[in-house]
Amino acid sequence: MTDFELQVKALKIKWVNRLTSSQNECWAHVATSILDNICPNINVLMHANFTDMKQLLLHPKVTPFYIELLRAWCEMKAGIQEKTNESVCDIRSQLIWGNKYISPRNHVLFFKHWIDNGIIRINDICTERGFLDIQTLIEKVPNKPNVLMEFKTILEAMPLRWRETVRTQTCALDVIEFNHTPFKKNLSEYLKAKQFIKPCVELKWEMQFGISIAWHHVWRRKICLRDKKLAQFNYKLLHNILPNMKQLKIWQIVQDDNCILCHTVEDASHLFAQCPRVKPFWTNIEQLIDQLLNQKIICSWETILLGINSSNENMNIIITLAAFTVFKTWAIADKDAQLLKNIDVWLMFMNEVKQRAAILNELNICENVFQTIIDRE
Ligand SMILES: [Zn+2]
Repeated sequence: MTDFELQVKALKIKWVNRLTSSQNECWAHVATSILDNICPNINVLMHANFTDMKQLLLHPKVTPFYIELLRAWCEMKAGIQEKTNESVCDIRSQLIWGNKYISPRNHVLFFKHWIDNGIIRINDICTERGFLDIQTLIEKVPNKPNVLMEFKTILEAMPLRWRETVRTQTCALDVIEFNHTPFKKNLSEYLKAKQFIKPCVELKWEMQFGISIAWHHVWRRKICLRDKKLAQFNYKLLHNILPNMKQLKIWQIVQDDNCILCHTVEDASHLFAQCPRVKPFWTNIEQLIDQLLNQKIICSWETILLGINSSNENMNIIITLAAFTVFKTWAIADKDAQLLKNIDVWLMFMNEVKQRAAILNELNICENVFQTIIDRE
């Protein structure tokens, strides 16, 4: 199954890779100049571990596209476990900028002048033992009147134990490197981790029916169909994205979420299974399946949505085509109660059957359940 949400995120994350690897190309200058409003060095920005996006929204010059991109990127990194080892080397290799652990008043720091002068990690404001003295600091960050205030801000925002460790333990200065290319590895780790997360619709239906469901069977019987129109229909049905009055109200298209015929709230289960308009139709379908396939089933909402675990796939095709017809008649009536009442669902169903039987005959496909339905009539 394609997880569209994840695919969109992956596309956004790919942009980060493109940006960091093509910084000298013409097109990347636009991005660089926009992101410069947050941080003058894209590599530093992309290595930052902050997850709270509120701060970015305050930058009026950062366009929504780049906020979205950073959001996807930060979300991905939040999903990858950070090392919690707090040795002096680990602390010194921490970024100062965009670091959620160095955030006074919940705002991460980005001091452009410091970044421009190559001060990126905690190690850059340290000697072999402890922090830089004021004179050296002023030499490293020249022409900045409030550099001491900013230095104080950084130190105070840092966790106390980090400060203590840096002050009391020595560390050779040249061992810490700034790793520039973790992007592809991060992306693949993220996608691997996400692969095993259940789609939220699966949990939704399991909770609604109070059962655990063998989803791989459901997806196979509902989506792996020769008839792509019906496969699409099932996909939307299972993802609860087909319109009904309740959804239309959520989408702010209508104000009343009641069924136009029986005036109770119309969600998917009402539209497809519980409305008195469709009950006789489903009884006909039950009889059809009984006579044709010698199977006694009840077309409940659960059956309509999930299909039936059976080696005979024709049963699920009939159920799907019936549900498709119910929806089609609802859509044709377009909220006109009189019209909806007058449409004969069974007649519409038989029309759908005839169309499909003709196509299968045309294609010389012998196993033609639709032709069998017509012959029975
Ligand atoms: Zn109704």
